[in-house]
This record gives sequence, structure tokens and C-alpha cells, in this order.
Amino acid sequence: MASKMGAPQDMGSRLADPGFLRRLLERHGFRFSRAMGQNFLVNPSVCPRMAAACGAGSCAGVLEIGPGVGVLTWQLAQLARKVVSIELDPRLFPVLEETLSGCPNVDLVQGDVLQLDLRRLVAEKFGGGPVCVCANLPYYITSPAIMGLLESGLPLTAITVLVQKEAAQRLCAPPGDRACGAVSVSVQYHSQPELLFGVSRGSFLPPPKVDSAVLRLAVRQAPPVQVADKAFFFRMARGAFSQRRKTACNAISSALHIPKPLVGRAMLAAGAPANARAEELTLEQLAVLSGALLDALAAGGARP
Ligand code: SAM
Repeated sequence: MASKMGAPQDMGSRLADPGFLRRLLERHGFRFSRAMGQNFLVNPSVCPRMAAACGAGSCAGVLEIGPGVGVLTWQLAQLARKVVSIELDPRLFPVLEETLSGCPNVDLVQGDVLQLDLRRLVAEKFGGGPVCVCANLPYYITSPAIMGLLESGLPLTAITVLVQKEAAQRLCAPPGDRACGAVSVSVQYHSQPELLFGVSRGSFLPPPKVDSAVLRLAVRQAPPVQVADKAFFFRMARGAFSQRRKTACNAISSALHIPKPLVGRAMLAAGAPANARAEELTLEQLAVLSGALLDALAAGGARP
């Protein structure tokens, strides 16, 4: 196919053309599924920028979630040694086989990213890594997918994802910020997040009701704070943020069934005001708080 200037267009550019995409999907008898978060990118500048930002060329390969018709996959394949793309919807495979026929370094896997054994997949496909993740995520799995990846222990260097703008702001919010939540604590613990650029709703077919943003989580090789029991630390953080109108002390006490005076003393040990709300606590204070709580529970003969 020729562009307006007469030069032939590559498949990556064609897939970002709404007219081409509509015809392609019509030919395959494909209908969008809202339940699977199917909003395909038709802004030609977004995928090349994401592929460049994710570090595709500097790792063993790229793991992509939800290739759709392959518009981002194609760009990744130009830069990466290998791309493994996990797609839930089997109806998209005949389309992908057509659009990615010129990309021998792409491996398509059918399945639900939340159910697959990613450790096994990464070991099989990339021989242990290091791997980077790049995806235009279906909105409904944003938090579980990101948390699952960060907590998986996979050999990841970075996770570059396109998500709803509000979700991006929440995920990047540092402790002390009003937007900070339990997910942000986990993101900060495992990575260094950076908001890269905004993407308007008109960049998708069909357009969603909200704007989006691309964010990059540079995965930390060592955590920024030491915690004695990671599982308890995150359980406590979830408890602290579970009732945002309460003080952290009250929220932790009711979520973890720990007497309030004991939580109050641990707050003091962490150097936090007794009436502080969860979003006012720093990562260091949360870490000290979880250690002090564990010590107090152990001294009282209780199990966390
Ligand atoms: N990457 C394409 C693009 O940018 O145009 C499609 C992105 S679309 C927002 C999300 C894609 O994820 C869809 O292709 C959808 O079928 C797929 N998907 C939805 N849930 C999934 C899951 N649990 N595991 C893997 N893929 C999923």
C-alpha cells in the first residue's frame, strides 16, 4: 500500500490507520469485546515511542500482554531479539498470523496473563532473561497484572505500560501524596516509576471514555527499605489504606485485628504521628512500623 507521499507503508504504520484496521477486522469478521478491554491503538506515534522507551533492544526479549492485532508487537519486533505476546482472545490469532507474518521473532501464546505460569513461560522462551514487559493493558486487569509482575520474582528490567490516566497517577504516587494507595506502596517498593506521556482517548478504536498515559516502572534490583517479613509488610500496607478516612492506626488495627494501643506504640517507634493517615507515611516509616508490629506481636505470643 502507498502512503500519501507515494512511498510504501510498513505494516506497523498500516495497523495504526483506522481505515486499514476497520477493513482488516471486517474481513476477519471480528467484533470488539468490551469485556476483554479491546481498545486498539490507532495513533501512529504511540507504539514506536513505547517500543523505544521499554528497552526492547537491551534485554533478552520482550514480554507483551494483549497484542490485539499486533500494532505494538510489530514495533517491538523491529527492536527486540524476541517478542513473546500473550493474548486471551483466540479470535485474534488468524489476524495476528496475517499482520505479523513478516516478524519471525514473535511468538504468540494464547491464554490469560493472570492465570499463566509466567515463571515457566519466561524460562522456556527467554532462557531466564533479563526480560522487559511492554503492553497496552486491558483496563480491567491493570492492578493485578502490574502487581503480579512486580511480585513474581521474574528477571524483569522494566515494565512499560499504557493504562488509564488516573491509574497511572495512582501507581506513580509516592508515599505522602494524596493519590498514594497500597498499590503505589508496592510499586515504589519494587520499582522506580516514571510517567512518560499522555495518550488521548481519540488514539483508540473504539475510543474509551477516559484518557490514558504511558508509564515505565524500572524494576529495582534491591528494595529501597529492609523488611523482615515481606508478606506481612504488604498485608499491613493494604490494611492501612483499606479505610482511607480512618487514621492508619485505626485502619491497621481493624484490618489485622491487632489491639489499637499496640499499633499506636508501633507508630511511635516508626516516628509517625499517632493520628497520621496511611498516605502521610513514608516507605521507611511503613517498613519500621511493620517491623515494630511484628516484634510486639511476637513479644505478646501472637502470630502475625
Ligand atoms: N496491543 C493492542 C493495541 O495496543 O492496540 C491491543 C490492546 S487492548 C487494550 C488489550 C488486549 O488485551 C486485547 O487484545 C485483549 O483481547 C487482550 N486481553 C484482555 N484480557 C487479557 C488477559 N487476561 N490476558 C491476556 N490478554 C488479554
